[in-house]
Amino acid sequence: MNLLFKKKSYSFKLSTKVENSKTTFLTKFGWIIKLTINEKIGFGEVSPLLEEDLKKCAKQLDMIPSYLKLFNLSEQINIFHPCIQSAINSALAEINGKIIFKENYYFDEIDKTAILLNHENVVSDLNEIKKRQSDIGKSLTIKWKVALKNNHEEEASLEEILSQIGNNIKLRIDANGSWGRKIANRWADILKDNKNVDWLEQPLCVDDIEGMKELNKKIPIALDESLLKFPNLIDEWKGWQIRRPSQENNPVKLLRELENKKALISISTSFETGIGKRWLYHLSSLQLQGPTPKVPGLAMNKFPNSFLFLNEAKKIWDQL
Ligand SMILES: [Mg+2]
Repeated sequence: MNLLFKKKSYSFKLSTKVENSKTTFLTKFGWIIKLTINEKIGFGEVSPLLEEDLKKCAKQLDMIPSYLKLFNLSEQINIFHPCIQSAINSALAEINGKIIFKENYYFDEIDKTAILLNHENVVSDLNEIKKRQSDIGKSLTIKWKVALKNNHEEEASLEEILSQIGNNIKLRIDANGSWGRKIANRWADILKDNKNVDWLEQPLCVDDIEGMKELNKKIPIALDESLLKFPNLIDEWKGWQIRRPSQENNPVKLLRELENKKALISISTSFETGIGKRWLYHLSSLQLQGPTPKVPGLAMNKFPNSFLFLNEAKKIWDQL
């Protein structure tokens, strides 16, 4: 069976820069791809986050010819970067009807996704959010990226935040793998009895699974970067998992897990266009119908107003 492969590159600027303890993002680069088999079309998105992955993907995407035998593709796909595999598998899933997107998903409102606090001024940012919340009267989820300042300062901010959030604000704290065990344990001790904390996200470096297992006995620990480095953990880790469909080899696995009501999964963005966002929305909707519903991390307020974020894949493709 013959397959037609096309790609287009994109870039866009986030509305404000996004910083974590490892890197800063402002401009996002990536590709959307289009596969055609027997006149059936599927779209996918290659959405690497780091510069080195972007370069790898650029090189590998150039190796894929426009026309290829489907047989060869299935055989050779696992040599590619996970982001390319994800895009191709997404497009194939669409062609094969393994995923059927809805026309609309509902994640636009402020309470439907986690709100990222501005780490430079977390407490005043929280106050702004609380003001808005009292206007709309909804429960909100906030996310705070830590390990960006010295720990002393951040613990002081934590104290203020805890004194200011009531039961209608949930808190997620993400260290992006930058804490050592000592600091992680201090935070776990401070937070362990607090019902408003969803989880501590990737407190320790990607390799310290033992350390995070221990912490998970005290407080919910969500793995993020570790799952990308060690995909086997997806089947082994008993705590929360932050799952990013565009970064996993085959998002169909994640789709199946959610369809089978697997618990403790939270969906997160890697700043995709409308093409990748279809998966984020679809999976997030399933997550919310599962045994442990939690709002996804979709960073909705970070995207510019552009055709790139339309909910029709074909329109994005045609206009790019
Ligand atoms: Mg994270």
